[in-house]
Amino acid sequence: MDFNLSPEQQQFQARVRQWIAEHAPPARGFSEAAMGEPLAAIRERYAHWQRKRFDAGLTCVTWPRRYGGAGLGVVEHYIVTREIDTLQVVPNINIIGFGMCLPVILHNGSEAQRQRYLPPAARGEEIWCQLFSEPGAGSDLAGLKTRAERDGDGWRVNGQKIWTSYAQYADFGLLIARSDAGGKKHQGLTMFLIDMRAPGVTVRPIRFNNGAHVFNEVFFDNAHVPAQNVIGEVNGGWKVAIDTLMYERGTSNIHILFRPLLESVVDFARARLAHAPPTLANQQARARLARLLTRLQIMDVQGLRVVAGVESGAPPGPEGSLVKLDWSESNMDAQAVAMELLGPLGVLLDGHDDIPAAGHFPRNWLRSFGNTIEAGSSEILRNIVAERILGLPKDAARSGK
Ligand SMILES: Cc1cc2nc3c(=O)[nH]c(=O)nc-3n(C[C@H](O)[C@H](O)[C@H](O)COP(=O)(O)OP(=O)(O)OC[C@H]3O[C@@H](n4cnc5c(N)ncnc54)[C@H](O)[C@@H]3O)c2cc1C
Repeated sequence: MDFNLSPEQQQFQARVRQWIAEHAPPARGFSEAAMGEPLAAIRERYAHWQRKRFDAGLTCVTWPRRYGGAGLGVVEHYIVTREIDTLQVVPNINIIGFGMCLPVILHNGSEAQRQRYLPPAARGEEIWCQLFSEPGAGSDLAGLKTRAERDGDGWRVNGQKIWTSYAQYADFGLLIARSDAGGKKHQGLTMFLIDMRAPGVTVRPIRFNNGAHVFNEVFFDNAHVPAQNVIGEVNGGWKVAIDTLMYERGTSNIHILFRPLLESVVDFARARLAHAPPTLANQQARARLARLLTRLQIMDVQGLRVVAGVESGAPPGPEGSLVKLDWSESNMDAQAVAMELLGPLGVLLDGHDDIPAAGHFPRNWLRSFGNTIEAGSSEILRNIVAERILGLPKDAARSGK
């Protein structure tokens, strides 16, 4: 595999960098864990920045132009993610939309659905959330109980979803529900696009372990979904769900955002260790950071392999699970190093005037545990790597032996 950019891709990268120099406001060092701003203000800042990117053709890079994309390839998408998203100018409150819901509409949706939903999202006008997990169905998603029943031409939805990221901003949700309770649990599921402002949809906040409000629980009480909002086949929702999870773990390039997180830990460690005595603990911190930087390089290469696979036209495969596993566990380790370097100051969740890093790293450290659960827990991803990449036999409990 050739990792060098072609002359055209180099030109594109130079254009992106030029645009950033002219248009990007100074980075605010945003961290999701610290989102305390009012929702309307975050939404407005997000919409403004997203519209600027849209006008410059620097968002939704791989989507066809007729749906609001830039009509370019996955390498250009990778360049844009790496150059622009890592700047963290605003919280990307539509990360779930761009990473999962909207690619699923692009690939599994009808022409009418693509035309209706893709352009407004690209322009920053509409936000999406993913309504999969339930109190009794996470890793075992097919065990979900939210019901969708026929009602004339459309459907009525009843039930509860949980851990729904950014539902407090969302205009629409990608919802999986049980439309036929008769067959096996993977059958009888249908994927819907649901209006989050429809009567009968209630969103209630849940706080992270660090106090931030990112995810929610969502209740459906006879919420109406029109017939044209089914995505894929009625009772064919499992196939659409699998595609969604592949996008979630494979192509969203979210691991690239690990780079600024690790770099901020390395900068902090550099300052903290510059004049520190060569104790065993300090030497260990250096060694751990060196290992993490090495893993970052490996992840980059692994991520590029996923990109190359998708560029050749194949749908994202199980390799994305490996990248997701690695960045989430590496991030937890990186934040733990920062916590150890902070020592007793690590308990100051709200920061300290003399040490700006206090507060920031403890909140990121608490948040990092969730990284190893969202988008597939580490145990589930290890199962995927073992079975689908390494070809090992299924564990006895699930193989039915
Ligand atoms: C920060 C965050 C954001 C999220 N955002 C969303 C969202 O936007 N939309 C959404 O739908 N969901 C979201 N989720 C939910 C997430 O997808 C689920 O938490 C995840 O799938 C795990 O499901 P669960 O919590 O029900 O745990 P369970 O599935 O009950 O798992 C509990 C434990 O058992 C382990 N386990 C389960 N099955 C196996 C097995 N077969 N082999 C080995 N170990 C196993 C798990 O690894 C875990 O450690 C989010 C979660 C987090 C933490």
